[in-house]
Amino acid sequence: MIFLKVDVMGIEFDNLTMQEFADRAAQMLQSHEKGYCVTPNAEIVYESIQDENFRSAINAASLVLPDGAGVILGAKILGTPLQEKVAGIEFGEEICKLLAKQKGRLYLLGGKPGIAEQAGDNLQKKYPGLTICGADHGYFKDEMAAVTRVNIAKPDAVFVCLGAKKQECFMRNHLADMNVSLMLGLGGSLDCYAGAAKRAPRWMINLSLEWLYRLLKEPKRLGRMMRLPKFMIVCFREKLRRKKNG
Ligand code: UDP
Repeated sequence: MIFLKVDVMGIEFDNLTMQEFADRAAQMLQSHEKGYCVTPNAEIVYESIQDENFRSAINAASLVLPDGAGVILGAKILGTPLQEKVAGIEFGEEICKLLAKQKGRLYLLGGKPGIAEQAGDNLQKKYPGLTICGADHGYFKDEMAAVTRVNIAKPDAVFVCLGAKKQECFMRNHLADMNVSLMLGLGGSLDCYAGAAKRAPRWMINLSLEWLYRLLKEPKRLGRMMRLPKFMIVCFREKLRRKKNG
């Protein structure tokens, strides 16, 4: 039996394939139904266990993508497997394809100054038909002013790339203020679209070693990455607890 929603340590993942997520997004864009998409990995799930506000911002999303091999493994350990890993960075490109087809407008919000503009140039070249209607860095002080700049640009979709927690809370807190069909929280994706950061080579992604690549590139992430083994331990504990309780 395939569950539509799969609970992994308190986060309600949508159990869909990349194609199914893209179809849902297309429906949202077409119907102008307002919503946002989040892409939690295992580190984020672990962090959300202790942080109810963060967890509720994730679970209030219309689309919750399992972004990472850790989440897929966690779901398996808990006995409720997910269909497939759906990487946020790849989903972002699916949205670009969709928007390019329908001559849609995309706004890029996040990253250091200059990153969103460079990412916009690259995406516009890669997906002819796509309009980048605005780009802004992610180090603003006044959130409402940033929201107003987005609304003036009249996008169909916005990539909100402010890093984990900040972006999910921003999307939840400003869903009503934003005149946008779909917001997507995509972490460091703009850095990759801009060419300022590189994704792991395909063979490492296929071997579920993307985390190792990121660790080698940015050793300062070690503290954050220690959440990965901790996440596995809590999944095993939860499995044992469920077994005990029948
Ligand atoms: N960032 C931002 N505003 C902030 C903090 C971070 O725009 O106040 C950007 C940062 O420049 C980077 C991204 O958010 O482009 C976070 O990247 P990371 O790889 O850490 O993403 P995560 O793993 O948190 O999803």
